[in-house]
Amino acid sequence: MKTYIPVIGLEIHAELKTKTKMFCGCLNDPNETRPNINICPVCMGHPGTLPVANKAAIEQMIKIGMAVGGEIPATSKFDRKNYFYPDIPKGYQITQYDVPFVFGGNLKGVQLTRVHLEEDTASSIHQKDATGNEVSLIDFNRAGVPLMELVTEPCIREVKQIGEFGRELQLLLRYLGVSDADMEKGQMRVEVNLSLGTIVDGELKFGTKVEVKNIGSFNMAERAAEYEIKRQREILEKGGVIDQETRGWNDPGQKTVSQRKKESSHDYRYFPEPDIPPIDLAKFDLRKLKAELPELPAQKRVRFADEYGLTAGQVEVLVFDRPLAGYFEEVVSELKTEVDESRVASREWKKMVQLAVNYLTSDLKGLMISAGIDDPAKTKVTAENLADLIILAADDKIGSRVAKDVLKKMFESGGDPNVIIKEQGLEQVSDEALLIPVCQQLIDANPGPAADFKEGKEAALQFFIGRAMGALKGKGNPAVLQKLFRELLTK
Ligand code: ADP
Ligand code: MG
Ligand code: ZN
Repeated sequence: MKTYIPVIGLEIHAELKTKTKMFCGCLNDPNETRPNINICPVCMGHPGTLPVANKAAIEQMIKIGMAVGGEIPATSKFDRKNYFYPDIPKGYQITQYDVPFVFGGNLKGVQLTRVHLEEDTASSIHQKDATGNEVSLIDFNRAGVPLMELVTEPCIREVKQIGEFGRELQLLLRYLGVSDADMEKGQMRVEVNLSLGTIVDGELKFGTKVEVKNIGSFNMAERAAEYEIKRQREILEKGGVIDQETRGWNDPGQKTVSQRKKESSHDYRYFPEPDIPPIDLAKFDLRKLKAELPELPAQKRVRFADEYGLTAGQVEVLVFDRPLAGYFEEVVSELKTEVDESRVASREWKKMVQLAVNYLTSDLKGLMISAGIDDPAKTKVTAENLADLIILAADDKIGSRVAKDVLKKMFESGGDPNVIIKEQGLEQVSDEALLIPVCQQLIDANPGPAADFKEGKEAALQFFIGRAMGALKGKGNPAVLQKLFRELLTK
């Protein structure tokens, strides 16, 4: 039996976040719910109107090109792609054919072919009218919104890379501030091209590709790819051939269905857009645009690992949550100003940084999620107060259970943890003279577990520590308790 190797390439569209549309002055407002509000003769395709290219959209394309390490040509141009469909009233779409704004580039190990700029189509709404007839309505709010299309080389071999790449691109576009790239809102759309390759004379020979559209999420994209691999393999194993076609993902049926046999580019009669002069990219201030690039996800990963010694998993959580990452850095810088320099150089420092990550990514984040807050800076917990809490915990002034309770209080009503702890008498108890009576009482009251421990059952020790913590309302120092129980139980 032959071995089939999946060959996958992606085409991803994303609406750019500009003030106005691509070729007219209409607002580009993805949140407009009333149909046909942001429209004009240009984006409605009226005869005699002239498009004017949006400079801000082109600048965003340049930034995308720089961020993926692509080549930006000296001049570029727009072209007409001719086809008839009600959502494209001019009878053609203005797009880019042979000279996109970005050639090549690389993201998350995936080689890019190109990134070009085009106009989005109107949206069609299919519904029943008052008399029950099926009608199609067209909303032109989206028509003419700047849309980038990124095409990858057919270099993806594993289905899970589809989601990894897609999420990385989404993250990059958000970092760059060029798109919200929300798939649920249709701001980002992915098409999967897939064939099964075979090894011929030691080389991978691609098969006939199928393009899958109508995909609403990265999960769907991966399921569509899995389905296609299975479908195509079954056809090939029976000696059949794969039709080059466009298929649609049918999510309720969890399958792809044929939509149309594939057209090729000459069907679209591409030609240069005569109403827009070629774009001279030398006229753009590339140095300024470069300087405006933020720290990119890949750079942040390296810096967070180096500077803070975080694990790959911790880095990933923070890279995907920019507000939390920014706040984390503030907390660390507060810690630096509050503790001695010698401590920053010591091994203890790493423990404090770890406490900061843990309090942020689990405790504070949990509280934020239940309160519906997306940015820690919008909570009552200041970075300075959180740094104080971390110092209290690192110095064993409070135990971990108490620290969580104090953080909750800080979240609810704000305030300095030192004050909260004093007011509520929550300091950790490490004084042996205070702890010994509590321990002895528990040992006397629980002869069974005490005997177990003497017979070598270590679990009995945890039982006693847990009971003591309960009696002390979480304020006991667990290390001291452990030492005391060992001594008292073996006496
Ligand atoms: P088209 O002209 O039909 O749009 P392209 O060559 O531009 O085709 O490729 C479109 C997408 O299909 C790209 O993402 C590319 O990586 C992918 N692709 C091209 N050939 C194959 C193939 N044989 N198998 C799988 N994917 C492919
Ligand atoms: Mg294509
Ligand atoms: Zn318009």
